[in-house]
Amino acid sequence: MGRAIVEAPLFDFIQSLPKTETHLHIEGAVPWELLQETFPGEFENYPDAWASDFRYDSFTQFEDEILGYAHRYYTSPDRYYESAKRVFQGHLNQNVRYVETSFHLGIVELIGGPGKDILEAIRAAVPDELEVRIFLGMVRDHYRGELIPLLDQIHTWDDLDGIDMHGHETIPWRDWAGVLWKRVQESGKLTKSHAGEFEGAKDVNTALDLLGTKRIQHGIGAAFDPPTLQRLLDENVTLDMCPVSNVKLRSVSDARSHPIRKLFDAGVRLTISTDDPTVFGNDLVHDFEILIKDLSFTPKEVIQVVRNGFEVALVEEDQRQAWIKELDQIEAIMPDFAA
Ligand SMILES: [Zn+2]
Repeated sequence: MGRAIVEAPLFDFIQSLPKTETHLHIEGAVPWELLQETFPGEFENYPDAWASDFRYDSFTQFEDEILGYAHRYYTSPDRYYESAKRVFQGHLNQNVRYVETSFHLGIVELIGGPGKDILEAIRAAVPDELEVRIFLGMVRDHYRGELIPLLDQIHTWDDLDGIDMHGHETIPWRDWAGVLWKRVQESGKLTKSHAGEFEGAKDVNTALDLLGTKRIQHGIGAAFDPPTLQRLLDENVTLDMCPVSNVKLRSVSDARSHPIRKLFDAGVRLTISTDDPTVFGNDLVHDFEILIKDLSFTPKEVIQVVRNGFEVALVEEDQRQAWIKELDQIEAIMPDFAA
């Protein structure tokens, strides 16, 4: 079984919109066809996890699956180049104009530390038609051993656009992250953090307090605590959300109870991304499908979500306005997919 089919006219509508993807792990995005080509005779069947009714039993099960592919495939900067080239072509095919993606410090460590080479390999794979910003992702206990000198220099990596604290919410927060995030922010780079995917509003507040970031990845927990939700508004925080990932990982009980509707209605700026499409079997259209089919987002509301991605994009103001104008023109001749 391959990817779930999204039917027209919903597919056509989402496809027609110029879009962003601002929460994507490059290790979780290696195209299945590339695995098949790289390892002939293996990976013949698509993963069970691609079925739309599949649910992971635990984060550990998910982690084992994703690392199984990532450790096998990502063994050199060249492999990153080959994968990123396909991933970005996939973005162009989906009418995506702007991407923020991260590569994971755990893999950098595993293959002997060529962080800058991986960064350059991903950069070299960017097609002319796509704007891509590249982040180094890490987890809450990564400031250790040989990674310390690398992290202490990370603010000097000219081609790196920023850093992201990846998932693994059960690892306790530690003070080093506050120091590192501040230094990276002062160097003019963008910082993000995963938080509140499973651990609730407290986790979101800790990320905001400790890291001083304005870009939270997931942040679901904020929806269930009014002061935290208000804080997102007061501090102009953006949530980069991934509905398919949240449903399959059981961060929410089902698609219809996803709090993205509540957050949107409250005025929180949020965007939509796929997170780890290799292990969820999703394209952006599947994530927007949840908004439209399960959460009754209107075309106008979907366009606002898409617009949010361009509003936070790290681009020149002229470029941002050109994209937003394109969206405005589509909105003016809005299709009707209500069914
Ligand atoms: Zn993520």
